[in-house]
This record gives sequence, structure tokens and C-alpha cells, in this order.
Amino acid sequence: MSDEYSIVWTELGIEPRAELFEGKDLNYVAPTTLAEAEQLKQSAKGYHYLAGGTILNWKGSPRVKGLIDLKHLQLEKITGISTEIRIGAMATIQYLADCPALPQALRNSAKLFTSKNIRNMATIGGTATGNFFVSDVLPVLAAFQVDIEYFQDGRKAVMPLVTWLRHKSGLICAILIKHTHRTVFFRQEKIAQMDFPLIVTALGVELNDGKISEPVIAISGAIGKLIVSESGAAVLSGKSPSEVTFEELNAAVQQEVEPTGNVKATPRVKRRVIESHLKAILAELQKEGA
Ligand SMILES: Cc1cc2nc3c(=O)[nH]c(=O)nc-3n(C[C@H](O)[C@H](O)[C@H](O)COP(=O)(O)OP(=O)(O)OC[C@H]3O[C@@H](n4cnc5c(N)ncnc54)[C@H](O)[C@@H]3O)c2cc1C
Repeated sequence: MSDEYSIVWTELGIEPRAELFEGKDLNYVAPTTLAEAEQLKQSAKGYHYLAGGTILNWKGSPRVKGLIDLKHLQLEKITGISTEIRIGAMATIQYLADCPALPQALRNSAKLFTSKNIRNMATIGGTATGNFFVSDVLPVLAAFQVDIEYFQDGRKAVMPLVTWLRHKSGLICAILIKHTHRTVFFRQEKIAQMDFPLIVTALGVELNDGKISEPVIAISGAIGKLIVSESGAAVLSGKSPSEVTFEELNAAVQQEVEPTGNVKATPRVKRRVIESHLKAILAELQKEGA
């Protein structure tokens, strides 16, 4: 994993580390091409790509050496038709919430962000890249089996989001939704309205002749990173929704999740929240598949 992504953001802000810069002599550049942006990034340690800045600027001046602003790279558009949609990395969360071309589940998850101020700044690229401890939209994107288009070593490449999250390399250009026909449900839990979510759980499936295929169960907030439950998917695969029991699904997912506690909830509470999400989502799937 590259150096920039080793920074850890918690509910208290960026975790203090000796090598973080204090914002003194901060350099700022705004390249006009992807190649230029990458060159600048590689030219010096401590340079970070800047999108909406909600993470980089959180709690005082950015503790980085230089900022490479992505604003001139023309990455903010959402294009495409209903069968394949391309969301530019610099599209804001508010733009996603307002865009009628996007699947409703994705729009709804974007609308749940803390406040309009944050939605107007935070970008989808920053959401995928930043190591924020919980995400409203990442589980939903995973449930849609989206791909990441990124720029690295002078060229563009495409990789499934879930694979990309393991390596997090390059500059994200876009999120590609190629499976807009998927059935996606999600649930989100908040302690207070103006707060980050505690847990977000999403389920995405394809229903062919009444049978479930390509299931994805993705959970954010249980630990610091997105969890995708392979065992949960195995329980669903090949069955009709009415054949799936909640007990079997819950047991499979819970065995893969080891929640960590925080100031808002203990691991046990998080487990119960995930359980209630799975129950509600399965009921919705069974209604859809009936
Ligand atoms: C006060 C507050 C409230 C929040 N509330 C919520 C909430 O309710 N729900 C929720 O899900 N999230 C919430 N978040 C987290 C939010 O999702 C992220 O802060 C945001 O999406 C990051 O996007 P950004 O454009 O601001 O990223 P930035 O701060 O600009 O960048 C974050 C990281 O990503 C890198 N980066 C950015 N764009 C790219 C790119 N295209 N390619 C490669 N690297 C890139 C940067 O170098 C940096 O390391 C909140 C954050 C804050 C500060």
C-alpha cells in the first residue's frame, strides 16, 4: 500500500504520527493532466491528491507537505445511460444524491451523509480512497459490483472496487456502474441525525428465474475498513429468496465479522445492529422475489 494511504483517520481526526507535517511551508499545485498529477505525486514524499478536502482539511491545516488539487482534471461529470454509468471521481456526494440517472439505492445512501455542507464538498473519489472509518456509500457501491477506473504509471486501468480497496493505488478517475440491473438494499444506523453512521449494511443480488446469483453483502463501520462477507454470499447463492432463513444468513455473516468498539457502541451492540440490518434486508429481498 502506498505511503499516503497509511494515514489513519479516526473519529478524533488524523492519528498523530511523527512524520506528518504540520502545515508549515505547504505547497499547492493544480495540474491540468493526469500524467502531470502523477508526476507531481511521485516527485516528492508527503504530497497528497486533494479532492473535496473534508478528510485532508479536517481538524486544522492539512498535515501534509503538498497538495495536488484534482479540480482541473475534468473528473466531476456523471455520464452514461442506464445500463452503464460513469461517475467521475470528483463528483460530489450531493451531486450523486441529486442525479436522477443513478440507481435509487445509491442516491438514497448519498442523501444520508451528515449534512449538506459535507455533501457539497466530499467527493466519491475521496470516499473510495480515504481511510475513513465508516462510509454510507461504499457498501452500496460494493453491492452494485462497481469497478474503479484509475490512472497509474502513465495509463488508465480498471479493477473491481473490492479488489482495488485492498491495494489502493493510483489516481481514481471514475467509478463505473456496469450492473445497474442489480437489486440492491441497504440499512444504516445513526445515534443522532447530524452524525456519522454507526453501521451500514448493503446487499446486492441478481434474480434470475427466481434464483439468487452474484450476491454481495458489504458492511461498513464494524471495523475500520469495508467487510465483504463471503460466507453470507454462499448462503444466498443459488437459492430463491424464500428458501433463505435469517438464522442461517446471520450466523454466516457474524462468523466473518469481528466488530471493534468505539465511543458510540460496543462490539456486542454492533453485532446486534448488523443482525437487525440483515433481518430487514432479507425481508425486503423476500418481498421483491415473491
Ligand atoms: C465532518 C465530516 C462528516 C462526515 N460525514 C460522513 C457521513 O455522514 N457519511 C459518510 O459516509 N462519510 C462521512 N464523512 C467522510 C467522508 O466520506 C469523507 O470525508 C469524504 O468522502 C472524503 O472525500 P473528499 O473529496 O473530501 O476527500 P479528500 O479529503 O480531498 O481526500 C481524502 C483522501 O483521498 C485521497 N484522494 C481524494 N481523491 C482521490 C482520487 N481521485 N484519487 C486518489 N486519491 C484521492 C486524498 O489524497 C486523501 O488521501 C464525513 C467527513 C467529515 C470530515
